[in-house]
Amino acid sequence: MPPAITKLDEIVATLSPEDRTRFDRLYDFNRSTARVLPPETMEDWITGQFKYLSEEPQGTPEWRAQVLDRVRHQPIVHVLNRVTCQATLFNAVRALKPVEAKDATEIEEEIEKTRGGPFCRPLQLTPENTFGRIGGAKTCANVAAYDGWHGMVIFEEHSPLAFREDAYRPEQVADMLAVAREWAATVHAEDTEARFFFLMWNCLWKAAASIIHGHAQMVVGRKFHYGKVERLRRDAAAYRAEHGADYFEDFVAVHETLGLADRRDGEAVTTLAHLTPIKERELVIVADDGLDSAGLPQALWRALKIYTRLDVKAFNMAVYMPPLGDRKKEWADFPVQVYLVDRGDPATKSADIGGMELYTSSVVSSDPFALAEAMK
Ligand SMILES: [Zn+2]
Repeated sequence: MPPAITKLDEIVATLSPEDRTRFDRLYDFNRSTARVLPPETMEDWITGQFKYLSEEPQGTPEWRAQVLDRVRHQPIVHVLNRVTCQATLFNAVRALKPVEAKDATEIEEEIEKTRGGPFCRPLQLTPENTFGRIGGAKTCANVAAYDGWHGMVIFEEHSPLAFREDAYRPEQVADMLAVAREWAATVHAEDTEARFFFLMWNCLWKAAASIIHGHAQMVVGRKFHYGKVERLRRDAAAYRAEHGADYFEDFVAVHETLGLADRRDGEAVTTLAHLTPIKERELVIVADDGLDSAGLPQALWRALKIYTRLDVKAFNMAVYMPPLGDRKKEWADFPVQVYLVDRGDPATKSADIGGMELYTSSVVSSDPFALAEAMK
């Protein structure tokens, strides 16, 4: 049996005492079984809906019995990051659902309809920041800003799904990062109080992009970092005070010992299949040497290709980084981290996050161990 989140207790039991101690410092988890008792009149519907739950030949009595048994007894694993209180509920019945590449024609038509919009003609149809634009027409100001400094990186290709093409290369990722950095450095030169840079990419409407043409967003805050970034810094500082250890090093090491990490020769970045994902298929790239880390654009490009293989179309990318300018002591251990999360099928109407994700623990179907397998 391949490793799976529902076997987390067995996986953790194989760790060396030292690795186990580190795991226990960072994580706690609970296993339970959801008992579901369907009436006979539901059984045909269930076997149709959850046919993937049995490996027996479909249609046989053994297959039917196994599917029904697995629906009646659903293993749930609730994982808590004890340091940050990020927490995720995994349900195996949902997790086993195979990835089926869906027809993208309608989505592509939707994308094509918006060709010729503002980001196709940025000089005519987008505002600029006070210092102008970076790279000719590669950036603009957000017409409805949500912080004092707000800009966009406009991608060359209209389709935000260009990353799925074979022609999409790591150089394009590197260029996006370079343009964003130059924009932030220009902001900081103009306003030295503006230090707290955040870069993100919302891909498609399902990930909250209001303009379809591919673009990333950049904001630079003053006085303090964006809330969740500051939360993480404080949690890591508390961890150091309590254990005398570096939270981020331990965070990476725990994922490595569980087989959830990918690190390539010659690179200074590690890609993790997050053990407490905020939503589906969350990857975290932790960089050792900031935005200059060797292999960062390549790792981000590989992450996009993993998403391509898993048929992820709508996603958010977020880059956490220490403040611009002189590195203050309280940020000394804070590495650059790139988060990517799948936001679900753009063709479905329902939102992928609800009350659970906003206020409690995230409910996630995809198994981080399966995602780690897809990283290889
Ligand atoms: Zn366009």
